[in-house]
Amino acid sequence: MGKKAIIVIDMLNDFVTGPISTPRVNHIIEPTKKLFEMAREQGVPVIYTNDCHTAEVDKEFKVWGPHAIEGTFGAEVIDELKPQACDYVIPKKTYSGFYCTTLELLLRELGVDTVVITGWQADCCCRHTSADAFFRGFNIIVPKETTDTTTEEGYIGGLEYIKNIYGGTICSVDEVL
Ligand code: ZN
Repeated sequence: MGKKAIIVIDMLNDFVTGPISTPRVNHIIEPTKKLFEMAREQGVPVIYTNDCHTAEVDKEFKVWGPHAIEGTFGAEVIDELKPQACDYVIPKKTYSGFYCTTLELLLRELGVDTVVITGWQADCCCRHTSADAFFRGFNIIVPKETTDTTTEEGYIGGLEYIKNIYGGTICSVDEVL
């Protein structure tokens, strides 16, 4: 594998402490923070892909209810994982970090061929972002401590799907960089 970038999905107030939060998100914060620190030290780009919804318009609200509305506290990254000056932040409208965003262009400009996918949720946004990464020819790594979802079955199923269908490497956070 060649050049890597860390992608972090939806570590936003609404998902961690807000209306669509679940306790299972809390234990991924520390390992994710550790990974970011290692990445920044080594010059590996850290790219945030954050839900940034339009109030009363976006179709996702039918499934999840209102969340991560542009300009609100709920749409901000949690304090523990705030982006640094060297990081990149890309707003998104739905599950995949690639869909109608500049993520692919940024990865190409940076010369990245391997994406390290972290964040919330393993069986939804991480899985859909992995699909789009796979379609575009990127290698995929998922550090298992840096993602989860609402249930254990969903977590295991999400990681298995990324591994079996997109050829993703599932590893521990210490094995990524
Ligand atoms: Zn959303």
